[in-house]
Amino acid sequence: MTRTGTPVPDPAPFAERLRGHREAVAHAIAAFRAESSEAMRERDLSDLLDDEPGVDHDAERSLLLAEHAERRLREIDDALNRIDRGTYGVCLDCGATIRRSRLRALPATARCLICSKEAARRASLDRSASTAGAFALVPELSGRR
Ligand SMILES: [Zn+2]
Repeated sequence: MTRTGTPVPDPAPFAERLRGHREAVAHAIAAFRAESSEAMRERDLSDLLDDEPGVDHDAERSLLLAEHAERRLREIDDALNRIDRGTYGVCLDCGATIRRSRLRALPATARCLICSKEAARRASLDRSASTAGAFALVPELSGRR
């Protein structure tokens, strides 16, 4: 950290929203996990029957969505931990104050806009297009509500 930002002085409304998101994401994970094991079962069956193409893809998509949702859940838990520690609203990378408007739009964000763009650039180098595509189908996972 190079700078000392100011944490959000009144994080209670953010904590409330994050807990709401957490519940939605936890539900989504359970649903995707159920979908993927259902699709796996169907695949086992279709291996026997050999007549149902595309089931593999369903299983994979559900699994990707579940993994993405689990990452979201960790981000939300990390944000709630920062609230507990009194560091919520300070950029994890550079230590700058994260703008309040940014926190309102993305309450789970750990970084200021500049560091977030840099982190996204690094992540996009190894993120598959299929994950990004699946991600776009589930608005509650994007954090933009
Ligand atoms: Zn930063």
